[in-house]
Amino acid sequence: MASIFSRIVAGEIPSYKIAEDENYYAFLDINPVAPGHTLVIPKREEDYIFDLSDDELAGLMVFAKRVAAAIKAAIPCKKVGVTVLGLEVPHAHVHLVPLKRESDMNFAGEKLTLPAEQMQDLCERIAGQFK
Ligand code: 5GP
Repeated sequence: MASIFSRIVAGEIPSYKIAEDENYYAFLDINPVAPGHTLVIPKREEDYIFDLSDDELAGLMVFAKRVAAAIKAAIPCKKVGVTVLGLEVPHAHVHLVPLKRESDMNFAGEKLTLPAEQMQDLCERIAGQFK
């Protein structure tokens, strides 16, 4: 069965899309740890990130670098943090989180549920900075 992220790529499940190319897709995390929290995935489904080929892993990180630049340009923050967990969704992904302080990256804490208008606004601001 296709992962929930493959279904997002296929357009079967809606997402706040930030950017995509032939191989990679970036979209807002539905329950962010901080506003602007974005997921970057390979379109090809693979559970464990370190089972990706060298080229695919490198391409994922290079695409994530461009997304991080867009987040940093759109959201006031010191840096964009990067984390890989993968305990919930079995489709490799990188978390990108705009950071003002270390606690902005607390995945064990309470996740946010932001109003749709705020998610749409964040999405448009970040997507508008993607180069
Ligand atoms: P992980 O697998 O890295 O532990 O966590 C998966 C992440 O995906 C979580 O931060 C969760 O909020 C996010 N997530 C799970 N399902 C969906 C979904 O359907 N849409 C979006 N945009 N994010 C999701």
